[in-house]
Amino acid sequence: MRAAAKQPDVIIVGAGPAGSSVATFLARAGVSCLLLERHHFPRDKVCGDGLTPQALYWLEQLGCADAVLELTDCCIKACDLYINGKYVFSGRFPEHTPYPPFCTLLDRKRLDHLLVQNAVAHGATLLEGVHVRNVVREEDGISVEATVAGSTQHFHAKLLVGADGAGSVVSRFLGNSFQGLTKAVSVRAYYEGVKAERSLVRVYFNEEFFPGYAWIFLDDHGHANVGLGCVCDGTFPLRINVKEAFQAFVAQDLGDVLAKGKLAGGVTGGWAAYCRPAARCAERVLLVGDAANSGDPLNGGGIHKAFESGALAAGFLRQVLTEGDFSAGSMARYDQVLEKYWGVDWQSAELLLTIAKNPHFRLLYLQLLEHLGELTRHDPRFADFASGIFTGMVPQSWYLSPLALLSAFPRNPQAWLSLVTGNDGTRAARSAVAAARGVIAGLRSLLAHPAGNLAWALEVGAKSLDLGWALTAQSMNSIGTLPQQFGWPTASFAPGAEARFNPVARRTTWQ
Ligand SMILES: Cc1cc2nc3c(=O)[nH]c(=O)nc-3n(C[C@H](O)[C@H](O)[C@H](O)COP(=O)(O)OP(=O)(O)OC[C@H]3O[C@@H](n4cnc5c(N)ncnc54)[C@H](O)[C@@H]3O)c2cc1C
Repeated sequence: MRAAAKQPDVIIVGAGPAGSSVATFLARAGVSCLLLERHHFPRDKVCGDGLTPQALYWLEQLGCADAVLELTDCCIKACDLYINGKYVFSGRFPEHTPYPPFCTLLDRKRLDHLLVQNAVAHGATLLEGVHVRNVVREEDGISVEATVAGSTQHFHAKLLVGADGAGSVVSRFLGNSFQGLTKAVSVRAYYEGVKAERSLVRVYFNEEFFPGYAWIFLDDHGHANVGLGCVCDGTFPLRINVKEAFQAFVAQDLGDVLAKGKLAGGVTGGWAAYCRPAARCAERVLLVGDAANSGDPLNGGGIHKAFESGALAAGFLRQVLTEGDFSAGSMARYDQVLEKYWGVDWQSAELLLTIAKNPHFRLLYLQLLEHLGELTRHDPRFADFASGIFTGMVPQSWYLSPLALLSAFPRNPQAWLSLVTGNDGTRAARSAVAAARGVIAGLRSLLAHPAGNLAWALEVGAKSLDLGWALTAQSMNSIGTLPQQFGWPTASFAPGAEARFNPVARRTTWQ
């Protein structure tokens, strides 16, 4: 696209959702910025292609929600949950949050292209086919060394943003290492010609690949995005071959759904880390999106987090440019911005992931999930609370707030009774057997791997203390990852926003 005319104020490495959103917010405010992207658009990115309600909200703030809704007709209001192949419940997206109560699907080839075009339309400069290899700090600025059509070129600016995703070159420059991080290793494939009555989002928690989940996201036209991701770290390395687990999952759990579908393209892999990097900023540099490990540790969603971090980073960079102080001390305030906005919520979600990532207790965790599912089925208020926490549509630290828990507590006696009786009156007996199996399996693994389990217990303890400290440092009422706390509007997606989906392509089969 356009060539860079003069030295920009900000160079952004990577033009995914994070890079494009920083560029859009900066360029809209009149800051000159240069986006460097190693690929040429339109390009694919391994992803589930799910645009969460929060992503739709941020697309609105970026000025391209209508353009996205023009490309898709999926308006999905609930997520169906399966455990060990068995349907458990459908959790709807809660109403009365700053976000629309639905999600949609759009492949990343089109989404990312649209986002980068939006950034350019706002005044950012994009250079494609520029593979950044190295970062060099200079006396009066910062530069990157890149390979462009086989030769080496340098680009200079006052400030640098690392938006180059998982495995970021800029993150490495800050001294971060990718060894042993808590991450989800995933594979994804597309299917076409899938027979379904409606678009849907299904999530599968199975013993074979827990901690982690598999999914099928299906649009109204029979295009399905199917994937499986498994969580691992240095203590609990991958215990399965993710591609083989994916193939087994497709055969076992999706045999019916995909019966008429055809694999389109190959099965491709990706990963993202879900832990705080050692450094997210330094003199003249900061990280956004997956480069900053910003994805939601509970559900793995990272597109809306990339937008959020783009908005936060752009606001911060504008302030720094006005002040003219790019020292390490000045840039360190970016960490405080992230902490203020994400801090306790992100930590609360991370604590749950830390607890869940021990595969030795997976049978117990799945039992617990099944029971939570049963409670949500009988109590809509509790259902909204649980799905709000899982999707991050309400502050995720609310699961630790006595007030929030009290108001969401299932009051319907039927809900509690169902835990004992289930559909056929035998749930209590089956649950007791399953729980006993879970405890025995957990204890056996505990004894077989004492060092790993001790390290895990210490990690859970340390993170709990850290979170407890952070929570007591601020009032429970003032915390929360909600846009209005950063001065963004609350209700840009008014009720009835569904009508904005492309009416020509829209069907009447919404859930
Ligand atoms: C299998 C899978 C499924 C997922 N499903 C979902 C989902 O359904 N919904 C959701 O919200 N999130 C999902 N995520 C997470 C989501 O994909 C990421 O959080 C999101 O893409 C992060 O955006 P980003 O801009 O930070 O990074 P990326 O999207 O990775 O973009 C980084 C960009 O930087 C470019 N780049 C990288 N290195 C260089 C370099 N050296 N020089 C120049 N350019 C460079 C890349 O080409 C790319 O364009 C999924 C992730 C995976 C792995």
